[in-house]
Amino acid sequence: MTIKEIFDTMDYGPAPESSKEALQWLADNGGIAGHYINGKWGALRDDFASNNPATGEKLAGVTKGTADEIAEAVAAARKAQPAWAKSGHKRARVLYAIARLMQKHARLLAVMETLDNGKPIRESRDIDVPLAIRHFYHHAGFAQLMKSELPDREALGVCGQIIPWNFPLLMLAWKIAPALAMGNTVVLKPAEYTSLSAMVFADICTQAGVPPGVVNIVTGDGETGAALVNAEVNKIAFTGSTEVGRKIREATAGSGKALSLELGGKSPYIVFEDADIDSAVEGLVDAIWFNQGQVCCAGSRLLVQEGIADRFYAKLKSRMDTLRIGNPLDKCIDVGAIVDPVQLEQITRMVSANTEGDTYQTTAPEGCFYPPTLITGLSAASTLMQEEIFGPVLCATTFRTPSEAVEIANNTRYGLAASVWSENINLALDTAPKLAAGIVWINGTNMMDAAAGFGGVRESGFGREGGWEGLSGYTKPSGTAKPLKKITAFTTEDGTPADPLDRTAKLYIGGKQARPDGGYSNPVFSPKGKLLGHTSIANRKDIRNAVEACNAAKGWSKTTGHLRAQILYYIAENLSARADEFATRINTMTGTKTGADEVETAIRALFTYAAWADKYDGQAHGVPIRGVALAMKEPVGNIGILCDDAQPLAGLISAMAPAIAMGNRVILAASEAFPLGATDFYQILETSDVPAGVVNILTGPHADLASPLASHMDIDAVWSFSSSDLSAEIEKASAANLKRTWVNHGKALNADSHSYLQAATEVKNIWIPYGE
Ligand code: NDP
Repeated sequence: MTIKEIFDTMDYGPAPESSKEALQWLADNGGIAGHYINGKWGALRDDFASNNPATGEKLAGVTKGTADEIAEAVAAARKAQPAWAKSGHKRARVLYAIARLMQKHARLLAVMETLDNGKPIRESRDIDVPLAIRHFYHHAGFAQLMKSELPDREALGVCGQIIPWNFPLLMLAWKIAPALAMGNTVVLKPAEYTSLSAMVFADICTQAGVPPGVVNIVTGDGETGAALVNAEVNKIAFTGSTEVGRKIREATAGSGKALSLELGGKSPYIVFEDADIDSAVEGLVDAIWFNQGQVCCAGSRLLVQEGIADRFYAKLKSRMDTLRIGNPLDKCIDVGAIVDPVQLEQITRMVSANTEGDTYQTTAPEGCFYPPTLITGLSAASTLMQEEIFGPVLCATTFRTPSEAVEIANNTRYGLAASVWSENINLALDTAPKLAAGIVWINGTNMMDAAAGFGGVRESGFGREGGWEGLSGYTKPSGTAKPLKKITAFTTEDGTPADPLDRTAKLYIGGKQARPDGGYSNPVFSPKGKLLGHTSIANRKDIRNAVEACNAAKGWSKTTGHLRAQILYYIAENLSARADEFATRINTMTGTKTGADEVETAIRALFTYAAWADKYDGQAHGVPIRGVALAMKEPVGNIGILCDDAQPLAGLISAMAPAIAMGNRVILAASEAFPLGATDFYQILETSDVPAGVVNILTGPHADLASPLASHMDIDAVWSFSSSDLSAEIEKASAANLKRTWVNHGKALNADSHSYLQAATEVKNIWIPYGE
């Protein structure tokens, strides 16, 4: 026998990790996962079972939390929050203690995770648990730095957190660490399949001296989750399916609860023909077979350049043949068990229903296992290329040119992550910004770290977890916002026109003044009842036209900050030249003498955001790899804005300027009560080199415009500063495409320029490893 033959035929011996200590821990703790409320174990009821998916054996019973138990946990969290928020240093010490204890109990946590979830011990031991620990270390630092680095921010209060089963401990860490660091207290609901590592974590909290009520865990199912969503919390942080995310968006609409959603994905894995093919094949093992493909950011859509496709698929298949599937506790296992027979059934059903392409599968043992699967020759629109399978199934297609790769990659409702493989750094770095995704990995995949934000765009949700960018989701500007009074337009008794000449201001769409689709208008009166003119009433069709104009102006987002700054300065210059005229108009409309001040405020806002246009920089995150994660600030896209009623000109400009400074295109619904300042402003825009479609202005009742703006699939964000409280309608309608919203909930806006700039940008983390 040659040495080669020996290597080729050599098999792995079994290398099982013992489950003894973990099972003993469960037995010692009553054999039931239950609530940890106010620092104590609460009810323990065997309402349903938590099984080991690899064997089908029951590991423990699980208590299904009731609405009353959720309320009890929220009350404990509420009581504990003010004291917890007081000292960042004390919080840092507690978070550090948690991290140290998690290190001490790392093996117990890893074994528990593998028993409960079915993931290979190699992954829970080397990835899930160390990353969870890193999260607590990193956020201990944020707790320490909060006072000096975020002096104008404060905790939200009590955060309700709902996590899925695919990374039970890691998702717990991603949720709890930043919330606690920023002075919040939490009520967390683990997924029904995987509550056990959360129990070990609760025990660690007691050992680490976490004050009672700061961390509360309530086990249960979807109903328990829904009860938490409806409880008296200040925020819901959710990770899970897009379907449930949408329900939570609707359920929290108008409640004033902050919301972050980390949802599904169908992330592209793009391999250019100049890629290091062996590395790209190995990368796929991590992209789609890591955690049995039950990963929201899994590289589940393989796009290979046509010239190398056959060679690539051949290499990939032979690599698949060497993947070892089986007992997750065996240290030599690559692919473990699917979390539950329900999930296995879903994967099986989706793959069996497919009639396209060629399917290649390896083998899997009997039980809750699914074989690594590759389906080639799918079209970009195939169901399997569009829908999240959440299993070890890789769907593939080919492309010819880089632009086609980007087009196929972006042909999805999701936007979580993407991988780009090329040895040509120019090509890779040219492709990354064009991908609709919150995270892009160059020549790598599934890299995550506490220092870099994680989260998506489009129907992959909103908000980031990790890094500086993740902290804003757990804080708010300091101070209390005052209730906003509804500002209504002046009316007249007789309606006699002061001027027989018709003065009906049109809408401003695509750089032109446009008649409203409906053909109706509203009179605008001075406080003394004098008719000042008419403004058009915009409708749903006008919104659609404005969105088309925005889309035609997409080039604006690719311009430089330097160019955008110049245009903002030019707007300011032209407004300044006509300052008296605008001031008089405002005084006449509002019956005040604030016009001059308001014009001055508007000019200052233009200068402020012209200044920021080329200075609101991204960051290079220091992640623990040989490389960097570049946090790039990108425009959100098309933003619909209901403008402040009280300040007809300054309100509009204070919202428009940051949005366009960051490269967005906007549809502004002018002040409902005093719209004429905005309609006069068209002339300033026309003479200031603002490209057509970048700024579109509509007039009409905010209540009629809010829902169509919020439900339009091609509007990416809606802001409302209107004195009509339309927050509930907007948040509810936004669930259609899960757009970002920034609404005032009927309160005066408590926001500085950073709040605007942040709302006007998305952070894309581009991971660039280096070295040979
Ligand atoms: P869900 O979105 O249903 O579950 C996520 C979490 O939300 C769980 O804790 C769940 O509880 C809870 N939950 C369920 N319904 C509600 C509700 N109405 N209100 C509040 N909370 C609720 O995901 P599933 O676990 O059911 O998985 C279904 C599919 O979702 C998967 O096949 C996969 O495609 C996708 N998924 C995506 C994830 C991601 O990270 N993007 C993670 C997990 C799943 P419980 O577990 O008790 O049902």
